[in-house]
Formats: sequence, C-alpha cells, structure tokens
Amino acid sequence: MNVIFLGPPGAGKGTIAKLICDRMQMVQISTGDLLRAAVQDRTPIGLKAKSYMESGALVPDKLVIDLLKERMSQSNSHGYILDGFPRTIAQAEALEKSRIKIDKVINFNAQRDTVIQRLSGRRTCKQCGAIYHLVNIPPQKENVCDKCGGALFQRDDDQPAAIEKRLVVYRQQTALLIAYYQKLGIESDVQVDGKYTLQDNVEHVNKILMGRV
Ligand code: AMP
Repeated sequence: MNVIFLGPPGAGKGTIAKLICDRMQMVQISTGDLLRAAVQDRTPIGLKAKSYMESGALVPDKLVIDLLKERMSQSNSHGYILDGFPRTIAQAEALEKSRIKIDKVINFNAQRDTVIQRLSGRRTCKQCGAIYHLVNIPPQKENVCDKCGGALFQRDDDQPAAIEKRLVVYRQQTALLIAYYQKLGIESDVQVDGKYTLQDNVEHVNKILMGRV
C-alpha cells in the first residue's frame, strides 16, 4: 500500500509517518529529508536546492521528482508513506504518470497557531533525524537526542520569516492537492490539533489505512 501524507508544514506528518512506519513496516519517504541530506552532502541537487529551502520556497519540480523516482525505484513490499510529496499539481501529475499506484491520501488539518507553535519549537537530531519539540516532546537531556545521543538543531526554515513563507506556499500551491485527490476518491481527513493527542492521530491514521474509517 502506498500512501500520501498531505498537510501544512508543522501538522506532524513526519512524526506520525515515523510511528506508522514502525508499526506497519512501511517505508517513509520524506522529500524534505532527502533534500536536506543532498544539501549536507553537497550533491548537484543539494547545491541547487539549498537557497530555495532556506527561504521556505519550494524546490523546482523537476529536481524533486527525479529525487523521488530514484528513491522509489528501490522496491519495498509493505509500501511507502510519501511525506511532503507531492506539493504541487505538476508533482501529482508526474506521480500519476509513473507506475506508482497511490492507494490512500491522508490530509492532516491543523490550525495556523498550532503549526506556528510547533515549527518554532521544533528541534531535529543531526544524526538520526528524530523530531523533538521544546515544550511538546522535549528530549530527556537538553539538546541531545534520546535515541542516538546526536546533537539537536533548529532548521533554518523553522525561523519566523521562513515559516511565514512556507505557510503562504502551502496555501497557494499545496492545498490545491486536497481537491485533486478528493476527485480521485482516495482522500481522508485527520484533524491533528484541538482535543486530539498524537496517540489519537496515530490511531485514526491506522484505522484509515486498515479501511476501518
Ligand atoms: P519539509 O521537511 O517537508 O518541511 O520540507 C522542507 C523544504 O524542502 C520545503 O520547504 C521545500 O523547500 C523543500 N521540499 C520538500 N519537499 C518538497 C517538494 N515535494 N517539492 C518542492 N520542495 C520540497
């Protein structure tokens, strides 16, 4: 089963994808993680993507589509969760043209205040990519990853100006994909904030994937 996680930055897609993948032996593909690794390794794609990412803009479609296709060519019997891809109609169309079948699309809804609070407090492990939050999911030891002991850092694009830009980009380009997948009849919604905890969200997603919602 191949699944797309849609939703604004800061909705918790990456955190929920990691928990679901552990449980269902699926593989998470985060184009953001792939791009950050490419930037860190100074690959040709990374060098081109860096300035877009730092400002909160989208990386050009062709670069991201090539990166994704290469990653998805490695087969996996339990399927993928695509976290952060597609982000434009052109990317969704490229995915449709490829032979990759998408079974479900889960759209994570979150209020603006929630995503700003989450993004501005987010810390990420430099070594293993684990995600923390200064208030919501604090590490046991300040700035140190509980899982691997790596150093935690704040992403450049989690600074206020870049957060604002990412939310505008989401509204103008990525949110259009909700209607795109509704038309295909494979879209489901999950409200991530308000009275719902992370555990509630994971259970809800699990039910959707098992066809119980
Ligand atoms: P994320 O980790 O998903 O929040 O992505 C971080 C940044 O990587 C985004 O703000 C974009 O600059 C870039 N990026 C990630 N996925 C895509 C995508 N599918 N299309 C274009 N840019 C992307």
